[in-house]
Amino acid sequence: MVRFPLEYNQILNSSKYNTFGWVRKYADGTPRFHKGWDLVAPKGTLVLPVAPGKVFSVEKTDKGKYGKFINFQFDLNGKKRYAFYAHLSEVFVNAGDVIESTSTYIGAVGDTGNAKGIAADKVHLHFEFRTDAYGGSGSEDRIDPELILGSPPYHGLYYFEDEPI
Ligand SMILES: [Zn+2]
Repeated sequence: MVRFPLEYNQILNSSKYNTFGWVRKYADGTPRFHKGWDLVAPKGTLVLPVAPGKVFSVEKTDKGKYGKFINFQFDLNGKKRYAFYAHLSEVFVNAGDVIESTSTYIGAVGDTGNAKGIAADKVHLHFEFRTDAYGGSGSEDRIDPELILGSPPYHGLYYFEDEPI
C-alpha cells in the first residue's frame, strides 16, 4: 500500500507540463524530461512517507537544484524503491531513521533549490519515485508515479489514512 506524499495533492497549474515524462521543452524546442510530479502546496505544508520504510538520505542545506530533500526507501512488492521529496523548507528526519507510521510528518514543502524565488501560489513539492537511490540525470531510474498512485491529480485529491468506520 502506497499513499500520496501530501494530504491534499494537486498537480501544479493542473498542467501536464508538471507531470512525469517528456512533458517539457528546452528553449530550442527539444524535449526535456520531468522526473516526477510537481504538487502545488503552500510553503510549510507537511509531507508524509508514502509507506513504512527508512530514510535513505537527506539534504538539510539549501543547495543544488533540489534544495533540501528527503530520499525515502520503502518496499514495493518485494523490491526496494525510493520516494524523493525536493525543494523542501524543512526536513524533520535523519538518514537511517525508520518510519513505521505513514502519518508521521517527515518534512515541509518549500521553495529551495531551483524553486527559489517562485511565486507563493506556485510553491510545490517535486516528488519522484526511483528504482535506484541516486537516480540518473535523465529518465534513468525513475518510475512514473501514475504506475504506483494512479492518474495525476490534476484537480486535487485528498488522501487520508483509513479512518475508523
Ligand atoms: Zn518538478
